[in-house]
Amino acid sequence: AKKSGRGTINLFRPALQAAVANRLQLEEGLRNALGNGELQLRFQPQLGRSVGVIGAEVLLRWRHPELGYVSPVDFIPVAEETGGIHAIGTWVLTESCRHLSEWARQAVPFTGHLSINVSAWQFSRPDFVSQVFAALADYQVPPQRLMLELTESALLYDLQETIEKLRALRNHGVGIALDDFGTGYSSLAYLRDLPLDQLKIDKSFIAELSGEMEHPLVESIIDIGRNMGLVVVAEGVETGYHCQRLIELGCESFQGYLFARPLTEEDFRDWLEEEHS
Ligand code: C2E
Ligand code: CA
Ligand code: CA
Ligand code: CA
Repeated sequence: AKKSGRGTINLFRPALQAAVANRLQLEEGLRNALGNGELQLRFQPQLGRSVGVIGAEVLLRWRHPELGYVSPVDFIPVAEETGGIHAIGTWVLTESCRHLSEWARQAVPFTGHLSINVSAWQFSRPDFVSQVFAALADYQVPPQRLMLELTESALLYDLQETIEKLRALRNHGVGIALDDFGTGYSSLAYLRDLPLDQLKIDKSFIAELSGEMEHPLVESIIDIGRNMGLVVVAEGVETGYHCQRLIELGCESFQGYLFARPLTEEDFRDWLEEEHS
């Protein structure tokens, strides 16, 4: 490449420009996404081995007017950096509570929990716990119906404060799941100190399950969770083989395309009715 007076950055300019433009477009779009009704929720069932549906995970979707569906993997980090995550997180929380209260009153009532993903930024707010309690109270939802999914990075930022918040939430009845377990870099020691209900095995581990091999890592994750009295949920269960192997390894709760994709409210209701009949 030719050397230009302004330095080597020129080499990357087209790619850089595209990335910056895209980033600006996401930032700009996100600012209006909530107000324009472009955010939607999907519900992905979670099943217990012998008990059927135990709950569902709430997953965000953004329908951008020009870009089409933007993945939460792409827009959540942007929302975290711009601070938009607070309004979005509050919306997910209140909408989930609204659905819980509505679905409890239907012909085939949904009595499981809804699990919502909570970003580290959201959790770190001093008023996070009172916000959760207020949303539950507003919709008269029993706290046991709500589960919060938190990642290690969210929990380990300030361990003492985290423990206090988790205790307050759990004393009230709200469930806590440790999300993406095994993908972080932290030691196991902190697990002992955290008041938790669920351990979620990340789908990257499940994708590697195969017939030829031993699976010491997945097996230890399941053992650790069970020994601590936690419900271990495998996410990304795509095949009957995954499920069978997980059962052999001692896992009892599952979520994945094998059972259902993340569903719209209408499809989720239909799915529940099918399961019920
Ligand atoms: P996550 O919490 O690890 O969620 C699980 C992801 O796995 C979801 O991706 C889900 O659609 C996908 N999945 C479920 N079953 C299968 C399967 O059998 N195979 C495969 N290949 N994938 C499966 P999704 O919906 O794209 O969400 C991606 C991430 O975005 C989530 O990862 C979560 O970290 C974040 N996210 C989603 N909704 C929210 C939200 O409301 N708030 C926050 N803060 N983050 C969210
Ligand atoms: Ca999750
Ligand atoms: Ca996650
Ligand atoms: Ca995951």
